[in-house]
Amino acid sequence: DATGLVVSFGEMLIDFVPTVSGVSLAEAPGFLKAPGGAPANVAIAVARLGGRCAFLGKLGDDEFGRMLAAILRDNGVDDSGVTFDAGARTALAFVTLRADGEREFMFYRNPSADMLLTEAELNLDLIRKAKVFHYGSISLITEPCRSAHLKAMEVAKEAGALLSYDPNLRLPLWPSAAEAREQILSIWDAADIIKVSDVELEFLTGTDSVEDEVAMRLWRPSLKLLLVTLGDKGCKYYTKEFHGSVESFTVKQVDTTGAGDAFVGALLGKIIEDQSALQDEKKLRELLRFANACGAITTTKKGAIPSLPNLSEAMQLMER
Ligand code: ADP
Repeated sequence: DATGLVVSFGEMLIDFVPTVSGVSLAEAPGFLKAPGGAPANVAIAVARLGGRCAFLGKLGDDEFGRMLAAILRDNGVDDSGVTFDAGARTALAFVTLRADGEREFMFYRNPSADMLLTEAELNLDLIRKAKVFHYGSISLITEPCRSAHLKAMEVAKEAGALLSYDPNLRLPLWPSAAEAREQILSIWDAADIIKVSDVELEFLTGTDSVEDEVAMRLWRPSLKLLLVTLGDKGCKYYTKEFHGSVESFTVKQVDTTGAGDAFVGALLGKIIEDQSALQDEKKLRELLRFANACGAITTTKKGAIPSLPNLSEAMQLMER
């Protein structure tokens, strides 16, 4: 296909976010429903910016699952890869940023529908249409979804898609930190494009520095592009031929949830139109400026999906 398609694989769930910030989960007077799940956020980010995107994953055959599927469709995301589990429920997460600055999580996943996606349920025709196949790590934690994830990667690669990986560490979901690190790095070599945050870079390399030599420990000859996001400081990029950094935009930050997903969505939506930025530093820097703008806008409003920008919002910030 001339315009290309991003297929984003993984979990979609509902985050319950306290109506009041800076409280523990037990102290929260009430919660707001916020649709989330990094791979779903990325899919919606691509579509909202005008790119073609499909989401591949499993939801519960319950009201939350149907609500999430409707959110995908309403945002222009192809949901033909979504399946519904008759028995298990849609995943739920309770998330708060406490007054001490620590994030507190509680999950309903015992197991949730997303964890029960099987290889047999994968829409292989859809995967084969992908120009970019994007995924995270949460779907690697348990079977049968783990096997489905690995199979989907294999099929996408065979069909000639670029593989894009955002490990999106959610440490409380893993049995241990050591296992998280091992599993995340076990699929490192398959990817063409990897985006990590500075926090993930530290976690994966075991140092508290974002120096180039630390990032280079995560470099592989099979990679085409490694990105490290640095919050309000923008991002760093590494390819075989060149590396550097691109500053972000000054905005009034309200809630950073989804900024990384907006950044990835902006990047992938452009890559399916034109892959030459992977070899051309000037083009790549322009693209990353756009991705930074999309990340920055996402921090100016509460929640992930409600704050993902459309193209005109992104253009406005870039021209300011
Ligand atoms: P993640 O959500 O994965 O932790 P970051 O918080 O680093 O990722 O944000 C992703 C991108 O969004 C950054 O690289 C940057 O371009 C942009 N961004 C995030 N926070 C801000 C901010 N406060 N001001 C401007 N840009 C931001």
